[in-house]
Amino acid sequence: MEDVTKLIALQETDAQIFRLRKTLRDKPAARQALEKQLLEAQAGVKQAEEQLKQTQLKHKEKELELQSKEEQVNKQKSRLFELKSNKEFSAMQTEIEKLKADNSLREEEVIRLLELIDQCRAGLDAAKKRYAEQEKDIRTRIAALDQECAELQANIQALTLRRQELRAAGIEPKVAELYERILANKGDLALAAVRNGACQGCALTVRPHLVSELRLGKMVSCEGCTRLLYDEEHAAGA
Ligand SMILES: [Zn+2]
Repeated sequence: MEDVTKLIALQETDAQIFRLRKTLRDKPAARQALEKQLLEAQAGVKQAEEQLKQTQLKHKEKELELQSKEEQVNKQKSRLFELKSNKEFSAMQTEIEKLKADNSLREEEVIRLLELIDQCRAGLDAAKKRYAEQEKDIRTRIAALDQECAELQANIQALTLRRQELRAAGIEPKVAELYERILANKGDLALAAVRNGACQGCALTVRPHLVSELRLGKMVSCEGCTRLLYDEEHAAGA
């Protein structure tokens, strides 16, 4: 097999391409995981925003309620002097006192909600700050990942060009075709060395007459894994 050194060079390039493609394959999932982290960090801010909004609405609602009840008190007060009997007067006064007591509770609630709004604002600020830090970190990692992918792709492209050159550099078409077919079938390596009488692709013992054929320069496929065999010692010396 005269082409063996050329095929070995081709295989070295293909093995590199294979390794780089394998590394590249894991990258999209890693990127997606980072994007998910980013969304989760964002969710913290959204939650804090929603909490603030709800508290503000509740505060507004309580404030309006207090306002209308205070108007009611004023209305009752102004009616006090229209009342003729003492009984009616004192009944109305009791009612006014009760409304005032209720309103005082409402006032406390409005103040409590105002304090809660302050707390929500502080919570939102903290969530935003936390997000900004996480975002910076995650975006840096995404950028590094993208950079790594671009480099992998550039390397794969360069190696692919190199493999085309090697492929065109006088490997017998029939041999090259067989090599390509086994490579496509195996995915990783199309050649396997024979070391200590065994195929290094599948560990099967290569029968002695096949080893002899190899040494005579014939093209021999492994009976176990179908890879093209080459005599490692012979090839190293060639
Ligand atoms: Zn084998």
